[in-house]
Formats: sequence, C-alpha cells, structure tokens
Amino acid sequence: MFNNLSEKLDKALHVLKGHGSITEVNVAETLKEVRRALLDADVNFKIAKEFTNRVKEKALGQNVLTTLQPGQLMVKIVKDELTELMGGDVEGINMSGTPTIILMSGLQGSGKTTFSGKLANFLKTKKTKKPLLVACDVYRPAAVDQLHVVGDQIKVDVYSDKGNTDPVAIAQAGIAHAKQNGHNVVIIDTAGRLAVDEAMMKEISNIHKAIQPQETLFVVDSMTGQDAVNTAKAFNDVLNFDGVILTKLDGDTRGGAAISIKSVVNKPIKFIGTGEKMEAIDVFYPSRMADRILGMGDVVSLVERAQEQFDEVEARKLQKKIAKNQFGFDDFLKQIQQIKKMGNMKDLIGMIPGAGKMMKDIDIDDDAFKGIEAIIHSMTVKERTNPSIIDASRKKRIGKGSGTSVQEVNQLLKQFNQMSKMMKMMQGGKGKAMMNAMKN
Ligand code: GDP
Repeated sequence: MFNNLSEKLDKALHVLKGHGSITEVNVAETLKEVRRALLDADVNFKIAKEFTNRVKEKALGQNVLTTLQPGQLMVKIVKDELTELMGGDVEGINMSGTPTIILMSGLQGSGKTTFSGKLANFLKTKKTKKPLLVACDVYRPAAVDQLHVVGDQIKVDVYSDKGNTDPVAIAQAGIAHAKQNGHNVVIIDTAGRLAVDEAMMKEISNIHKAIQPQETLFVVDSMTGQDAVNTAKAFNDVLNFDGVILTKLDGDTRGGAAISIKSVVNKPIKFIGTGEKMEAIDVFYPSRMADRILGMGDVVSLVERAQEQFDEVEARKLQKKIAKNQFGFDDFLKQIQQIKKMGNMKDLIGMIPGAGKMMKDIDIDDDAFKGIEAIIHSMTVKERTNPSIIDASRKKRIGKGSGTSVQEVNQLLKQFNQMSKMMKMMQGGKGKAMMNAMKN
C-alpha cells in the first residue's frame, strides 16, 4: 500500500536530517520534494499546495518551541497534517432506525457488491446484527447472482426479484421483507455504470428518496486516483452521501484518492477494502493511515487483526497438545489458515514499522503457504498426527502427490521437527535450553 509515496516522502524528509534547525531555505527544499511526492501519488494539485503551505507555516512557527530534531519535527507535522487531511477522527456508521437502512452507491466495478458482503459480514460478526442484503441491479442478472454467492458465503440472507425492473420497488420490498423476518440491518446494493451518467444518477437518487436510508455510502476504487475524486464529487452532489468506502487498497495504489477525497467532498472515509475476501475490510483510521504512508507501519491494526483471529478455546486445546507432545501437521495447517485469514501477506508485513521499506522488492504473494499446504494435504491422517513414521518411500509419495520434491518434503519435516522441539521447551519453561537450541 502506497509504497512509492512512502519512499518519496521518506527521501524528502531526510533532507532535514543533517540540519541543526529548520530554516526558510531547508524547509522550502524539503516541502518541494513533499509536494512532488504528493503530485506523483495523484493528489490534487490544489490540495498538495495547501498541504505544504500549512506544513511550512507550522514548521517555521514551532521551530523554536520544541526540543525535537528538525527532521523529527517535520515528520510529526507532516503526520498530523496528513491525518487531518484524511479526516481527523474516526466516524462510524449511523445504526439508528429499525431496521437500519444502508444504501450503497458507486460506479460499476468499484467493489459495491463485494463491499456489501464485507459490511454484512462485519456487522454480523462484530456487532451481532442480523443483516439482509438486497440486490437492486435490474440490468445485470449476473450482479444479482454475485450477491447471492456472497450471501451464501457469509451466511447472510439475500433478497432479490429477478423479473422486476423497478429498483425502487425492489428496495422497498426488500425493506418490508427485512421487517417481516427480523433483520435489523438492510444493505441495498445498486446498479452502477462504467462512468457517471444522468440515468444512473436519477435512478440512485430515486431509490435514495424513496427509502430514506440512515446511511448512504459511496464506494470507490482507490486505483482510479483523481478520477475517484471527480466521481465522488458527482455522486455527492446528487446524494449528499454520508461516507466513502475506498476499495482495492491492497493493490499498488498510489494513494491520491485516500489523501484527497475527504477535502473535496468533506465526507469521511469510513471503511477500506484490502482484498477480494470477505474478511478484507478495515475501519478507516486517518492517523493509522498517515503512519503507514510515512512508513511507520501500523502495529495497532496488526495486533487487532491477530486478536480477531484468536480463539481462546482453540488456543487452550493447542497448548494442551503441545504439552503432551501431540502437536501434529493438522494443527500446523490450522495455524497457517489463521494467519491467512489475517489478510494479504504483503499488507501484513507493511504494518510492521520499517519492514515494508525493507522488503519492498521482495515478492511475497498470497500463495506463500501453497507448497506447505499441498505437502500436508498429501499426507495421510496417520502421517499428520505422527510425522515420525514418514520414511523415504512415504516422502517420495508425498512429494509426488503434492507436486513438490522430496527435498521440499524433507525441509518441511525438518522445520516442523525444530518447531515442535522449541514448543516443548517453551512449555517446560526451559527458556535457557531453548536459547541454546536456537543458537545451534
Ligand atoms: P461492483 O460492480 O461495484 O459491484 O463491483 P464488484 O464488487 O463486483 O467488484 C469488482 C471487482 O473488484 C471484483 O473482481 C472484486 O473481486 C474486486 N474487488 C472488490 N473489492 C476489492 C478489494 O478491496 N481489493 C481487491 N484486490 N479487489 C477487490
């Protein structure tokens, strides 16, 4: 996320490192680079200029009042200003109304349907709500099917009426269906077009007027940069929406949309989408995002994601197994699956301060565990619970079955062995023995 921008800002802010104080001259030089970095990230020209002007004013004003080094001071000011620009405080979703009605808007392909599912899943698991998804795209039957697939996946009911060509009527019927069936949240997915056009605006505006949602969300693909901002403006003029959803932040997004959108439409970004999976949704925290943009990582979000996946009952079971030396490959597989649920690997690494920069050229994809998983899946149940029985002929069979080599099977077995030993030592409180084992 934002690798290029992070790198350029880092370089720009480095200019001040060797200087004893902030002066008109060195601040101008730094800010010229900061502005260039923002423009390269597709931030609107006016916003970039105003941003650097504010930073300049603050830097020159605060210079004498602080004990911070000029470089540190500048990083702090840039971080504060970036946070402010992206929205300052976190704004949640208005959950009033029985049921709460949430209307999704945005262009085709922006990620509306996917996000509708993610939001339903989020509200169901985090807020113990009972959502209903309503499919109002009357032009593309495939879009309705897609919502049903998403609903099945997250076990959330979907209301649709394929023969009906009136989206307003479908939305209203969906809300009535929700009331009759005890759903307390209704998420209405609507049709989008490839570009802003009058008919689409009229349609969404009609739905909006008829159902009076508590929350209207505008979904936008962050890869579209300044276009995202223009589209947001057009939708906001018609809908006066409540919040923005930025999708596809897992890609090589330049960052312009995230930075500019709030100040153009004066509406907060509420959630971000960071992948195609239903779990790839995050509440948008301007200050955490600013940290990430400045390459400072986002440890808070990383820990939160780990906590979300943490299952206390499972953890206790695991602990018992380790204590009894019964930790097998099935348990290992479960651990891998939990890590994968935390999100895209590159994204996770980017949350560790400094790691994103260090590993920017290393290609880590979501398939990082594929080989290991394939090997484990090719083992028999017996082999998984008792890996010591895996002899040469079994290794050959496993390698063949998983499309890997005997060497790879050997390597995994060796690593698994070491890990098991380590776990056993930790359990026994033999910290010293463990340290020794790690040295060898
Ligand atoms: P809609 O036309 O607005 O309903 O858009 P869809 O929900 O069908 O999404 C369009 C495409 O973008 C699909 O292939 C989705 O899987 C993909 N997509 C949606 N959100 C994200 C995201 O946050 N990250 C990534 N990488 N892909 C996404």
